[in-house]
Amino acid sequence: MKIINSIEEMRATLAPLAKAGKVIGLVPTMGALHDGHGSLIKTSVKECDVTVVSVFLNPIQFGKNEDLDKYPKRLEADAKLAESIGADFVFAPSVQEMYPEGDPLTLVRDESLECLYCGAYRSGHFRGVLTVVAKLFLITKANKAYFGEKDYQQVFLIERMVKDLNFDIEIHRVPIVREASGIALSSRNEYLTPEEKERALGISKGLAQAKAAYDAGERGVARLRDIVLKAILACHGQVQYIEVADQKRLQKCMGMLKADEKAVILVAAFFGKTRLIDNIELG
Ligand code: AMP
Repeated sequence: MKIINSIEEMRATLAPLAKAGKVIGLVPTMGALHDGHGSLIKTSVKECDVTVVSVFLNPIQFGKNEDLDKYPKRLEADAKLAESIGADFVFAPSVQEMYPEGDPLTLVRDESLECLYCGAYRSGHFRGVLTVVAKLFLITKANKAYFGEKDYQQVFLIERMVKDLNFDIEIHRVPIVREASGIALSSRNEYLTPEEKERALGISKGLAQAKAAYDAGERGVARLRDIVLKAILACHGQVQYIEVADQKRLQKCMGMLKADEKAVILVAAFFGKTRLIDNIELG
């Protein structure tokens, strides 16, 4: 396993492998790796000949008052974890390497969904994500890339970007990895005090209760949202949004879901100062 910091070296390393017909898998991350990232890496190692894990804390996807400065950083431990799962390369460029001209002038944007759900509260976030992911696709020329369903809106937008811009890459979704308690693994869980973490279970509990209600026949959007809301409020969480969207277009659902409509409940909530997101598919 090798850590590579320069774009030029990453390209020079991967080009002969691609030429030799090796299937290259890419797992983009911001570091502070946990078993959720591990699951993406494992899937890539299984399905590809070469796995590149990128570790890049992308400043342009963070708002001014967000947690860029305090985001956990531990490249060595990340590289060890990636290696233990079978990754071949960790690509860890500096900000200067990725944005030598300063903030990019050319950005990839989705004009429709960037203002919904997380995008409504994190202005500029998704254009930062899409731009850096596009750069990583162009740098690695990977054949497949792996993204977690934990960031449901993100993987949806990346799939759409690949279609819209004809990127020659397959996007693979990997299911959410949760702790035994139900809480979705996240690098940001490290910000939580033990007491906040206990309370944060309200999110996954609420989502599980809403899914149980859906499976029992509940199709009322307001009632499904209310189940999640009550569970989070009972744990003294602060809800940012709870929305039900259709899986196909990720548009907000209102009224009653159709009997066989595939939907997803998307949630963001604060416990203390920490903002957590989660979701669950229905149908
Ligand atoms: P991040 O480092 O938070 O940007 O995440 C990098 C990738 O790991 C993204 O595709 C995330 O969706 C994915 N990921 C993060 N947490 C989880 C999780 N608990 N389960 C599955 N995938 C995850």
